[in-house]
Amino acid sequence: KHIPVITVDGPSGAGKGTVSRLLAEKLGWHLLDSGAIYRVLALAAIHHGFTPDDEESLVALATDLDVKFVAEEEKSLTHIILEGEDVTVTIRTEEVGNMASKVAALPRIREALLRRQRAFKEMPGLVADGRDMGTVVFTDAAAKIFLTASAQERAERRYKQLLEKGFTANIDQLIAEIEERDERDTNRSVAPLKPAEDSLFVDSTELSIDQVVTEILKFAHSKL
Ligand code: C5P
Repeated sequence: KHIPVITVDGPSGAGKGTVSRLLAEKLGWHLLDSGAIYRVLALAAIHHGFTPDDEESLVALATDLDVKFVAEEEKSLTHIILEGEDVTVTIRTEEVGNMASKVAALPRIREALLRRQRAFKEMPGLVADGRDMGTVVFTDAAAKIFLTASAQERAERRYKQLLEKGFTANIDQLIAEIEERDERDTNRSVAPLKPAEDSLFVDSTELSIDQVVTEILKFAHSKL
C-alpha cells in the first residue's frame, strides 16, 4: 500500500517544527520530528558522560535507545520519554542541540537510527521534519520541501522561543551557534544538509507561518 510522505528539511530555526506540525494536523497525518531523536540520543549520551569521540558507546546507545513519543489527546504536544523520564523540555536546550549535531555527524549513528525513523511512515501519511528526510531517509517522498531563513532571522526566532520557555539567551551567541551548527550540518560527509533535487525551496525570512504552510500545501497537492 502506498503511503504518502511530505519531507521538510532545512537548517535549525527555519520554522520546520511549527510548519510540519501544522501540516500534519491539517492533513491528519503522522509527524516525525527526526531532530528530536538525535536530541534524545545526545541527552542520553550526556547523561552517560560520553563524548562525541566515544563512537562504539554511542552506536550501542543509538541501537538500544529507549525512546517513546506519546501524543497528548486534544493537544498538539507530543511528550518525549527517554528511559521512562519525560525529556520533552530538556532536549530543547542549545547544549543538547549542539551535542546532537556532533553525534549526528557520525555515519554509524545515522545508520543505527534509520529504521526507527522509517517506522513512522504509516497510513494515512507522514510529514517528516529534519535535515536528510528527502535526500536519505524518504527518498521516494511525494513532496519534498527545503525550508530556510537568514541566520539573523533564525537566531531572533530561537531567542524568542527560549525566553518564552523560561531559558535565558544571548542573541550574538545564538547567531554564532546557529552559524557553527549550519556549517557542521552542511559540510559533514554523510547526509549533509542540502535541498533534495526535486524539492520546493522556501525562504521564510519574510513570510509568516501561515504563508509558508499555504505555499507548501499548494505544492503538495500538485504532487499527490
Ligand atoms: O532539528 P533539530 O535542531 O532538533 O536537530 C538537532 C540536530 O540533529 C541538528 O543540528 C542536526 O545536526 C541533527 N539532525 C540530523 N538529521 C536530521 C535531524 C536532525 O542530522 N534528520
